[in-house]
Amino acid sequence: MTINHACDNYQGFELGPIRPPSEASSLLLRITRNCPWNRCTFCSLYKAEGFSIRKVDHLRRDIDRVRYFVDKIEKTAHAGEGEAPTLASLQVGLTGADQMAFHAAVTFMRGGMKSIFLQDANSLVIKPDDLVEILRYARQAFPQLERVTSYARSHSIARISDDDLTKLASAGLNRIHIGMESAADEVLAFVRKGVDKQTHILAGQKVKKAGIELSEYFMPGLGGEAHSRKNALETADALNQIDADFIRIRTLAVPEVTELHKDIRAGTFKPLGDRQKAEELLLFLDHLHGINSTVKSDHVLNLFQEVVGRLPQDQGRMTAPIRSFLAMEPQIQMLYMVGRRTGIFHRLADLDDAELRAHAEKALAAHRVTRDNVNEWTAEMMRRFI
Ligand code: SF4
Repeated sequence: MTINHACDNYQGFELGPIRPPSEASSLLLRITRNCPWNRCTFCSLYKAEGFSIRKVDHLRRDIDRVRYFVDKIEKTAHAGEGEAPTLASLQVGLTGADQMAFHAAVTFMRGGMKSIFLQDANSLVIKPDDLVEILRYARQAFPQLERVTSYARSHSIARISDDDLTKLASAGLNRIHIGMESAADEVLAFVRKGVDKQTHILAGQKVKKAGIELSEYFMPGLGGEAHSRKNALETADALNQIDADFIRIRTLAVPEVTELHKDIRAGTFKPLGDRQKAEELLLFLDHLHGINSTVKSDHVLNLFQEVVGRLPQDQGRMTAPIRSFLAMEPQIQMLYMVGRRTGIFHRLADLDDAELRAHAEKALAAHRVTRDNVNEWTAEMMRRFI
């Protein structure tokens, strides 16, 4: 891993490219730029840029800038009628980084200033003491904060001592998202995830032990045809040993710029169609046992958004739509896939809505989808969402 320590000059407030869907109202604080690993063959993020760590002092200045705009906006809200400047007038003359900081303050305030998300791909790679300092500073600046969340790699967490993780938890880091994707060693090695099943388990258990809320992501389809069963069973087994607070489904899509797409062209990776991914997801869910995780399907790439619930009590309800889908006639399955991939359907029950169904039938005809081309068509549609 090559780490560039950021240049000495402060460049102003920064924003990274992504955040989890659940962090839409959070203040995004960019602790590091890009991904320190950057080798996963299915991932198209951060490929153009090198990794760097931003200075603690620069993060303090980002926080100060957002606090400054929050104060300014709050004053506006408290000003008497006739003398109150509008939100639009407060932005006049702001450019670049300050404009971003202003918009970040507005979004954060609209969400009640309750949560911060630390960007980019793996904030846990920085020195624990530096992260503690950033967390303390942010919590002092925004005392009403309830939640600070970060993405992290299992590999990085496994290397942090239990004491340091506890320190981070006490300083206010209270939720971590890990892109487990799979816990099948063959799959992890093939996609160059840089971690194995045991490290995933160790890292997940350490996060839980430190009292930090844990979200683990599972990626149906990542094993391709060759390792579909293992992808489901090994990942379920790892998650049964971790008991994460959240298990999030994020179905594989393969952008053309990725190494995995080259594997598809070379014939060394055979991707699954939607029907096979549904079978894999069902196998996975059926093998989650003895845990109390909440399952979420909050990503646009997922075929079923209704696979949501708490284990163990909702297991039957969550798997019911997948079983129904798999029992359908192939033509109706295809209609659902087309409706889902064109944004007409969100859940299987939408097939029962006559108006939505008529739209989906029109889309099926317009896109000339057949049973012979449905998998290629679906893969192409999914690429458009990444
Ligand atoms: S660790 Fe995450 S961000 Fe980095 S390359 Fe892998 S999937 Fe992409």
